Amino acid sequence: MNPYRQYMYSYPHKTAYGPLEGVFLKDYVSCLAGRENGLYVHIPFCRSKCGYCNLFSVTGQGREAVDRYLQAAERQCRQYREVLEEVSPVFSQVVIGGGTPLYLTEAQLDHMFAMLNRYFDLGEPAKRDMVIETAPGQTTEEKLRLLKQAGVTRVSLGIQSFSDRELSTLGRRHDAGQARKALELLQSFDFSCVNVDFIYGIPGQTTDSLLASLKEAVSFGPDEIFLYPLYVKHGAGLERAGVVPDGEAAFARYQAGAEFLRTAGFRQDSMRRFVRKQGRRAYTECGFGTSLALGCGGRSYLGNLHFCSPYAITRGECLARLAEYEAADDYTRITHGFLLSEEEMRRRYVIRHLLIRPGLRLSAYQARFGRDVRLDFPLLVQWAGQGLAKVEGEFFTLTQAGLDLSDALGPRLISLQVQNAMRRWEESHEQAYDLIQRQSEEL
Ligand code: SF4
Repeated sequence: MNPYRQYMYSYPHKTAYGPLEGVFLKDYVSCLAGRENGLYVHIPFCRSKCGYCNLFSVTGQGREAVDRYLQAAERQCRQYREVLEEVSPVFSQVVIGGGTPLYLTEAQLDHMFAMLNRYFDLGEPAKRDMVIETAPGQTTEEKLRLLKQAGVTRVSLGIQSFSDRELSTLGRRHDAGQARKALELLQSFDFSCVNVDFIYGIPGQTTDSLLASLKEAVSFGPDEIFLYPLYVKHGAGLERAGVVPDGEAAFARYQAGAEFLRTAGFRQDSMRRFVRKQGRRAYTECGFGTSLALGCGGRSYLGNLHFCSPYAITRGECLARLAEYEAADDYTRITHGFLLSEEEMRRRYVIRHLLIRPGLRLSAYQARFGRDVRLDFPLLVQWAGQGLAKVEGEFFTLTQAGLDLSDALGPRLISLQVQNAMRRWEESHEQAYDLIQRQSEEL
């Protein structure tokens, strides 16, 4: 079994989304009544494009382009606020991602935080989680001070490797020296949570070099380490460079890396997430993950409505989406997304809970849907028979062997309808990527 079919960080995947008509934000705001809502802010700018990146981000944008984007985001905030007024939602989970959010100047970051506070109720600071992603090249003392003042609780730093050779293979702009300085600086600011990201399966990486990176990371005392497999997706630079990941070698690296982190005092909460042990693992009923997105390229999840701008990977596509976003006059009319049926909602629920420890609480599924998850998804019973899952107390959970294969098992829970929509998207984009590939070979 190929361990690396697909990362199921959300369901359904953006490539399954399609045009929507007659859908308005006002009809879904009741999903946001309450205090534990997510607010996602997408900052789609980066200094350079990493070789493996297929996220919605563009390079080469100056101060004016970013200002224009923030002005559009402010118009969006204003319109959202008017629509949200009737339910007075509290957004206590704020995530600022990208892209590279700290690509913004200090004045622009100030503008962004002021905007969030002006248009949204973020609840009491003591009960708020505010997360931001950063890269070593953009992590400066001034910006970290600003984040601290703005109430950021968690900072996620994309290091990927402490080997310069591996960083260069990945097409990262920073080197190991910069990463060390950035992490040291970050740790000196005493954020509630510092997280660092690493990648395994990099061509030329060995088990020893991965372990050397992880050992060094642990020596800085981060609260969490994320260990990502290298995926080379359509449209990413590494694909044009002809890099084909070796799944078997990557899996061997993963097992060594995960084992090392577990013995170094980290608890494994998912295939990717390792958390410094702090007593018992708390169970959080994460439901369906209700979240409203601001900016272009971020996804909103409101009950059975998921929406965002059409999926874009290439620079040309991303720039076109950005121009549409900045020219939009009504952000509350939803034109692209996915309306999940009750069956798709059940799939989403299972995917969201099963791939994370402690797993899926059987009684919570029963209470929500009035059904037994094992009858709804006989595949789960099959996995239990194969030693990949088990019932542990009140949870249905993946065994270590199952967790290790999350990227192979998770995709098997995708419905036929979503698989077909994803396939159609792949086929319609195949030609465009082939053209980009040929053009880059000719250069
Ligand atoms: S991986 Fe992150 S830092 Fe690199 S280009 Fe993509 S969004 Fe930017």
